[in-house]
Amino acid sequence: MEENRNIVIGGESVSPGQEKLLKIRIDRLPTGTLIDIPVYVFNAKKPGPIVLIQAGLHGDEINGIEIVRRMLEEKQFKTNSGAVIAVPILNIFGFIHFSRDVPDGKDVNRSFPGIKSGSMASRIAYHYVSEIMHQIDVAIDLHTGGGQRHNYPQIRFTQEDERSITLAKAFNAPITFSAKLIRGSFRNAAYKMNKPTIVYEAGESMRFDDFAIMEGIQGILNILHHLGMISKIEPKYIERTDTIELHERKWLRAPTAGMFVPKVVNGGEIEKGQEIGLVSDTYAKKTKRIKSPFNGYVICTNHQAVVNQGDALFHIGR
Ligand SMILES: [Zn+2]
Repeated sequence: MEENRNIVIGGESVSPGQEKLLKIRIDRLPTGTLIDIPVYVFNAKKPGPIVLIQAGLHGDEINGIEIVRRMLEEKQFKTNSGAVIAVPILNIFGFIHFSRDVPDGKDVNRSFPGIKSGSMASRIAYHYVSEIMHQIDVAIDLHTGGGQRHNYPQIRFTQEDERSITLAKAFNAPITFSAKLIRGSFRNAAYKMNKPTIVYEAGESMRFDDFAIMEGIQGILNILHHLGMISKIEPKYIERTDTIELHERKWLRAPTAGMFVPKVVNGGEIEKGQEIGLVSDTYAKKTKRIKSPFNGYVICTNHQAVVNQGDALFHIGR
């Protein structure tokens, strides 16, 4: 029988049949404490794809971190073939500061592929690319909405990459759509390295959302099954027939400043002309109603109660 590949991270090798917790050294805190990124590698004996499952690229997006933690606890990354590289928290700095970014305010997800001697965000990206990304075949990047925006569980794929579309369909989240590649993002770097990638966006930063977590676990297991790395999924977390694929999306913004009162639940179906929320002053004098421009679905709602003119209130699609 043909042997699986060796995986080498941080100078340490994980041979077929082994599982190891490794660390990528990044930098030191001003106190001298060493910061490293923990990386779990589960390498099966039989050859197969190497799947990267990563969370916490934005340090405050904890639902993905919890998805990886639960799957580690349930030993769901031990596959029959190929390998899983699981990174629970990519942006350690952001995680301990409850922040999306690293301490200098830069976004790691806008800093790929990174520079060895660059800023902190750029260094993290650089080490990540050189230590991990060139070894993988497929990546699943776990995120949540930022700034009190709550994303209904959704998968974003890269239209230009057929394999990414197939992965998105296999994941089978409630909502699926293609999203443009953003310069400096992990997905853009992966695309340039010819590594099919999907991004799972679910829930809101700094808050656990059990539905988002369950959907995420189910979707990752669906992918491992689709790639032939696990034979069956047990237990099944979510039963669903098919994802809803969106072909058009729109952000609805606050027409004025005031109190924002949503009138629909996230994930709900909406009709053209339906009043889906309102923005009112605090004296009940002036109220602006927000109406849906088409029949479709709400895929993100803003949980902020007091909003400024132009704030994104709903992300809708059809
Ligand atoms: Zn994010």
